[in-house]
Amino acid sequence: MPFVIYSERSEQESAKQYAYRILRRNILLLDMKPGEAIVEKEISTKLRISRTPVREALLELCRERLVEIYPQRGTRVALMDARLVEQGRFLRETVELALLELACKSAAFTEEHIALLEKNLEEQKAEVEKGDLISFFQKDNDFHRILFYACKKETVFEAIGFYLPHFTRERMLRLQMFDLEELVCDHSNIIEAIRKRDCNMAKLHLSEHLDHVMCDQQILLEGYPNYFIKRDN
Ligand SMILES: [Zn+2]
Repeated sequence: MPFVIYSERSEQESAKQYAYRILRRNILLLDMKPGEAIVEKEISTKLRISRTPVREALLELCRERLVEIYPQRGTRVALMDARLVEQGRFLRETVELALLELACKSAAFTEEHIALLEKNLEEQKAEVEKGDLISFFQKDNDFHRILFYACKKETVFEAIGFYLPHFTRERMLRLQMFDLEELVCDHSNIIEAIRKRDCNMAKLHLSEHLDHVMCDQQILLEGYPNYFIKRDN
């Protein structure tokens, strides 16, 4: 079973937090493939911790639908679920379009928030320079988090957060397909539209952005049938 220990356990981290962090990263970055069996004992040996914190971490990952636990048959990395991702996109698009309307119309969205977005945009450009796609997508998520935060809707972003790891796993299959410059440009256009309080323009750029940043489910299902839950419809 391939398993990468990305970094050592930190002093503040409990054994469970450590197991959770390392397992989650292995699953998101596809070191551990969808459908692959997870052997608790092997993980606990590699991490040099007991089995209980490993089991607790797996339970938490199960709640996030990243792991599947079958009492008699063992544990495995959850298959990808195109329907779940599609619903995540639906939620995200519906809510973020409404959010931009709010951002453009509300006096509570200030120059200070624009400055935060611009700072984040610079950080995105730095990640593009470095060619670090994983960190880039982290900054991309942060950009959207700032928008929610500025409109005092931070817990709504947390709700959307449930879907983010599932978006990440799909992206990992298509990393080479993303045009990062284009994504930075989308973000820049969104900032510009908010600054001008041009609601329709902001929404247009967001819809385009979601087309650029979300994967085509059909292509993935055809390219990686074994990684996905099979459905007839
Ligand atoms: Zn974005």
